[in-house]
Amino acid sequence: GWICMTEKLFDSRLATFDENYQRILEQIAWAAERSGRSLDEITLLAATKTVPVEVINYGISKGLCCLGENRVQELLDKYGVLDKTRCDLQFIGQLQTNKVKYLVDKVSCIQSVDSVKLAKEIDRLSQKNGKIMKVLVEVNIGGEENKGGVAPDALLEFVDEIRALPGLHVQGLMAIPPICSDKKDLFRYFSLMEQYYVDIKGKSMDNVDMDCLSMGMSSDFAEAIECGATMVRVGSSLFGARG
Ligand SMILES: *Cc1c(COP(=O)(O)O)cnc(C)c1O
Repeated sequence: GWICMTEKLFDSRLATFDENYQRILEQIAWAAERSGRSLDEITLLAATKTVPVEVINYGISKGLCCLGENRVQELLDKYGVLDKTRCDLQFIGQLQTNKVKYLVDKVSCIQSVDSVKLAKEIDRLSQKNGKIMKVLVEVNIGGEENKGGVAPDALLEFVDEIRALPGLHVQGLMAIPPICSDKKDLFRYFSLMEQYYVDIKGKSMDNVDMDCLSMGMSSDFAEAIECGATMVRVGSSLFGARG
């Protein structure tokens, strides 16, 4: 189970969280200010993979209001104990079609939709559950071979195809850019994402609302905010390095 820490270790993890959380909120505020954006257009999603549920619940008690899990099994293990009443739970990892059934009644948004097959299964099971699932389309912005995401040149067609599915609602885009040694490359990827986001928004397509641009992680969330991110997904700099 997830209850496997000594009391002392637990206390030190909470203290680390408190420090990190304050710092990240400040960094988000600075990045918003630098780019002339309003703080309330930016959501901090806590990426909680490998983080014990007790630590997550502490974070929720301190104000975290949006969580993202990566692995279906881990989400299921934590789900019963997680303080869900005050927190929005989303799925951010790669998702196999045959696992959608475990998530459909548990998360508010699936951020990693990158195939029609996956979208159709989300649609089918959401309809069966009497809900409309919010989804983000994951974009393989760096064109990397071993990464999930729709290729940028197929993006518009993909959005147009899945928006016909009544059990889901396309709410925005998500990306994980390649690791960049040069910040210029990073800015180029983030700016491209913003361009796609704005372009699609401008088309005012039925069943598509571009109101979430999910990009930026621990190492680059400030840059992502400067390029228009409305959601940053932060894990290790919030909870400490993953063991
Ligand atoms: C782990 C993860 C994050 C957070 O990564 P950190 O570098 O720890 O902040 C964000 N998004 C996804 C999809 C992840 O898997």
